[in-house]
Amino acid sequence: MKCRMCKNEKLKTFLSLGTTPLANSFLSKEDLKKPEKKFPLELCFCDDCKLVQLTYIVPSEDMFSNYVYLSSTTKTFQKHFAEMAEHITKNFNLSNKSLAVDIGSNDGILLKGFRKFNVHVIGVEPAANVAKIAEENGVETINDFFNEKVVKEIIKRKGKADVVTATNVFAHIDDIDSVIGNVKGLLKDDGIYVIEIQYFVDTLKTMTFDNVYHEHMSYYTLASLDYFFRKHNMKIFRVERVPTHGGSLRVFTAKEGSRHKAQSSVKELLDYEKNICIDDFETYKKFGEKVYGVRDKLVDYIKNIKRQNKTIAGYGAPAKGNTLLNFCNIGKDYIEYIVEDNPLKQGLFAPGTHIPVVSSSMLDEKTPDYILILAWNFADEILSKTKRYAEKGVKFIIPLPEPRIV
Ligand SMILES: [Zn+2]
Repeated sequence: MKCRMCKNEKLKTFLSLGTTPLANSFLSKEDLKKPEKKFPLELCFCDDCKLVQLTYIVPSEDMFSNYVYLSSTTKTFQKHFAEMAEHITKNFNLSNKSLAVDIGSNDGILLKGFRKFNVHVIGVEPAANVAKIAEENGVETINDFFNEKVVKEIIKRKGKADVVTATNVFAHIDDIDSVIGNVKGLLKDDGIYVIEIQYFVDTLKTMTFDNVYHEHMSYYTLASLDYFFRKHNMKIFRVERVPTHGGSLRVFTAKEGSRHKAQSSVKELLDYEKNICIDDFETYKKFGEKVYGVRDKLVDYIKNIKRQNKTIAGYGAPAKGNTLLNFCNIGKDYIEYIVEDNPLKQGLFAPGTHIPVVSSSMLDEKTPDYILILAWNFADEILSKTKRYAEKGVKFIIPLPEPRIV
């Protein structure tokens, strides 16, 4: 295994979350009879370029075959992307002569925001069903992976781009070198490439290790991104911290010879990362040890509850919940069922643990003694929704950043 960025072969593992199925592959009753594919889920650090990455990459045909996530389903995201488009349009004086291209454009959520300002747009989206929704929303979309052929097609149709964006896709790409080569081919000389990625420093701080799953191959800090863009004769000239996904970075990059000058935000964040020793393997090793501690504490809580013959249900079935349950080896012997509001997941079984996923009416039919909040980033919302159970004496387990019972 070589480093994705610098090809170093001496990578240092600091966290093993076990051998687990893909966190989004919920199973039907029929699927339960078949063997389930599992893959190692481990994080390692590269001393040379500072990139954190998975040690094992799942073959892509196993991974993106049934991608059903739609960006526009939450209000929070609609607002986030509308603001992002406005922010970029105003800061870089985009007009009706400009072109914005979004890689992994999903249902067109970001490009719709650019179009509001009469900027020309085109999306690139590999999932056929999602690309179709974008077209229905009036956002011109090429249904393909972002590659050289697609770049040629865009230039033929629209010319070169003023802005290329990629939000929450950069971590999912294995061959990042070829993607950046194609981005450079698509950009005008002074064009900008803006990415949004989950910020691994926030993961370290908030102990949100359940953000780790097979689809996320890389976990970025500004230090590792800085290395990467330099290697490709590009520069990071501005960086912003944004709250999405528990803490993300919005990184503005451009070609080395372009007119964009580095702003103070870049040096400030690089200095901050140096101060908290983000370039030192010890930082990651300590994080790994803390994660094992959190796991042991949570498993203790759950086992104690079971010893008293009390029952536990889960609340929320996000991908991260499956990372947590599989890592802690908390299966259906401990959790009777998981309540989930997304109807597409109801009637299915959680990958690995095979815990049934049901609608929230089950909480009335079979009221548990404890509820383990798996979508813990929405803990406040869930606690207020389930108030009447709390009044009946049901207790709640919040697993992260530190397991606690409320
Ligand atoms: Zn490296």
